[in-house]
Amino acid sequence: MIDTLHHFINGHPVAGASGRHGEVFDPATGQVAAHVPLASAAEVGAAVHAAQAAFPAWSAVTPLNRARVLFRFKELVERHADEIALRITYEHGKVLSDARGEVTRGLEVVEFACGIPHLLKGEHSMNVGRDVDSWSEHAPLGVVAGITPFNFPAMVPLWMFPVALACGNTFVLKPSERDPSASLMLAELLRQAGLPDGVFNVVHGDKEAVDALLDDPRVQAVSFVGSTPIAEYIYARGSANGKRVQALGGAKNHMVVLPDADLDGAAAALLGAGYGSAGERCMAISVAVCVGDHTADTLIETLGPQVAALKIGPGSQDTEMGPLVTGVHRDKVRGYIDLGVAEGATLVVDGRGLTVEGSPDGFFLGGCLFDHVTPDMRIYREEIFGPVLCVVRVPDLDTALRLVNEHEYGNGTAIFTRDGGAARAFAHQVQAGMVGINVPIPVPMAFHSFGGWKRSLFGPLHVHGPDGVRFHTRLKTITARWPEGARGAEFVMPTMK
Ligand code: NAD
Repeated sequence: MIDTLHHFINGHPVAGASGRHGEVFDPATGQVAAHVPLASAAEVGAAVHAAQAAFPAWSAVTPLNRARVLFRFKELVERHADEIALRITYEHGKVLSDARGEVTRGLEVVEFACGIPHLLKGEHSMNVGRDVDSWSEHAPLGVVAGITPFNFPAMVPLWMFPVALACGNTFVLKPSERDPSASLMLAELLRQAGLPDGVFNVVHGDKEAVDALLDDPRVQAVSFVGSTPIAEYIYARGSANGKRVQALGGAKNHMVVLPDADLDGAAAALLGAGYGSAGERCMAISVAVCVGDHTADTLIETLGPQVAALKIGPGSQDTEMGPLVTGVHRDKVRGYIDLGVAEGATLVVDGRGLTVEGSPDGFFLGGCLFDHVTPDMRIYREEIFGPVLCVVRVPDLDTALRLVNEHEYGNGTAIFTRDGGAARAFAHQVQAGMVGINVPIPVPMAFHSFGGWKRSLFGPLHVHGPDGVRFHTRLKTITARWPEGARGAEFVMPTMK
């Protein structure tokens, strides 16, 4: 039985009309589970039209009442969190507890956005000149869009739209066509929470839908999360069309392990951060930089058997790692393992031969661990986005730091050590947007902002937290005088004496 999914426009499910659709797989079985419509430019236009029409009334709702809708939405998501998580597991493949975790992390942004009356308070200065007051306020932008990746089908949309809506904008979401159902569930819960029709819309699609959003003059801002080549394209095309754009891209996150670190703890951290969600996380650790051969040898001795023993199977069962999202992606990752061997790295754990009992056609790949990886290798330079960890050996912290800083990506990084001075120096000198000290995946909480440096983010502002409010509003500064009588014309630059 193959489901047919729909768009969500103006508060209602809308059947696809373009005649094109994509296939959504259950990665654990390898079977097609649903067809997702791929929107034409006209269908995207209908969603933008609905959002544009809803903007005047929604932006006039008081921030407190917008927050109340989000409070109700938060309760509804909490009530339906298990259902949403299960759907994520069936379309993405990640294990259920991990899917539940991403819903929780997304909910934290809703909680942050519920504080919008406080966040929009602005600034006020009395007597900037004699009898003149001045204040700055945050105005919403209008219709804003979100374009999101497959790997967090609930959390990444939730990074964007709660803050955007709370600020008074209306929203068009174009989720990943590979696991689109979570977005539809969230849209339905927003409707139940009392969000007026047209304020939040979902259109599914591929490049055609994305280009329609980028070219539509009614769309004021675009938030994108996905791979770096597409992020760069979105940033260039959206900006050229005069939009505000934040485009978060790919990653190759390094974890530096110093000889004085708790190496058992570091190995456990690497197991979760390298292989959780089958490595399909933008904050996954994909490179372990070991300072000294003894550190590398000890770590590999501990970690290798654990990687080989990972409990791999359908994410809905009691497993530690599920399948990859599609067969095409699994084959691409497997190609990188072949490449690493050809490039001369030592494959300590080879997951290519894995078979999962009862799931012969699932998109599974076992955990893989490479040692003696060097910076000139493609498996070091490129984002693999699978359950593959590369160990690089370096003589000292300076070399480790230089490696991280010279890599084209700068999303997250971590250092494991007991030396506070070394950790402090690393945190201040490293070129990355998010840094962990004995924390392998330093994803900022919702009340801070999330984003990388270098080719992991195009645009000046990070997502959610304070930057989310800055991105989704523009400042207006008002200067006011209430004169007693008429004043003469002034031809000099006002200096407010
Ligand atoms: P992707 O770039 O293939 O797709 C992301 C979005 O762009 C999807 O909605 C997709 O439909 C759309 N898209 C794809 N090709 C397009 C094209 N040619 N033109 C216009 N739009 C297009 O990314 P993905 O495979 O879904 O997700 C994995 C990537 O996302 C990884 O690189 C990962 O590092 C990155 N990611 C980054 C972050 C971050 O915060 N920096 C977070 C999550 C994922």
